[in-house]
Amino acid sequence: MENAKSTEVTLSDFIERLPKVELHLHIEGTLEPEMLIALAKRNGVEIPYRSIEAARNAYHFDDLKSFLNVYYLGASVLREDRDYHELTIAYLSRCKAERILHAEIFFDPQTHLANGVALEAVIGGIHAALLDAERDWGISSALILCFERDRDPATAVKLLERACALGNITGIGLDSAELDNPPGKFQTVFAAAKAMGLHRVAHAGEEGPPSYIWQALDMLQVERIDHGVRCLEDPSLVRRLIDDRIPLTVCPFSNIALKVFPQLSKHNLGELLAAGLLATINSDDPAYFGGYLSENMLHTFSNLNLPVRDALLLQRNAVEAAFCSDQRKQELLSALNEYNASHHVLL
Ligand SMILES: [Zn+2]
Repeated sequence: MENAKSTEVTLSDFIERLPKVELHLHIEGTLEPEMLIALAKRNGVEIPYRSIEAARNAYHFDDLKSFLNVYYLGASVLREDRDYHELTIAYLSRCKAERILHAEIFFDPQTHLANGVALEAVIGGIHAALLDAERDWGISSALILCFERDRDPATAVKLLERACALGNITGIGLDSAELDNPPGKFQTVFAAAKAMGLHRVAHAGEEGPPSYIWQALDMLQVERIDHGVRCLEDPSLVRRLIDDRIPLTVCPFSNIALKVFPQLSKHNLGELLAAGLLATINSDDPAYFGGYLSENMLHTFSNLNLPVRDALLLQRNAVEAAFCSDQRKQELLSALNEYNASHHVLL
């Protein structure tokens, strides 16, 4: 008993101070109930929750669809550039506290445009916060514009051109309701993004079948798969992902909240790593799914009995998968190597 307890404390301590990279994080998914209520009041937006407690109670879901209903309702309180700035700075201050040194942030412009918010306010507010965090805390970042796959793809290219004209977009992604919305629908905008020199990622193989991962690779030519946990159902797909070193941005708490796996001890992160896949660990929508990156790591490692060295492996994988300069990657690897050297006794 005593041994088990001391191992857990050591794991917690190791993960808390481990230099980290996060690659799958929706900024709208960091909206904590306190900020939701405060922004609704400040902006005069009607929401069905009368208190922080009521909002917190609503943050429970059965599947992706039921989560998205609450998530999009939450996003409706974001109206001005200062709202986006405050939301993003709140997440980045968590990064500082958790030693996340590099963060790649998704945002859903179509939701905000549908709410009547100007694209300039969305991108301007988020980007100003990213600059503040780089200047004040040394956190590097990238901004990834996500298209919602349950919306009409016909307007996507025009939106991409508008966003790129404003600058500061590193890449594009594909998110929202996966089932019945295969990646192939978005081939045109992904081809346009490639021609513009942008990076490309897509959610696939979370609720959707392995064939959606194939489509993301072959039709959208993505460089990373977001989630991708269902790839293990198709051995030839696993081979392809390994051969091409395609990273998977795995999000354990999200998978449990949305019932992709029944409980954390049944998650397949250990199998993904054992298969030789380039898996990373991320928090997805941490305000809604019960925890940020360190908590995702700690609870996943405890439940799956993963060795501490896998925490380093996941972070090395994330550095390889990141859309940052080679120089920044070297800095991030040096931070990991230094940390490893000072903790080698644990490994
Ligand atoms: Zn996601």
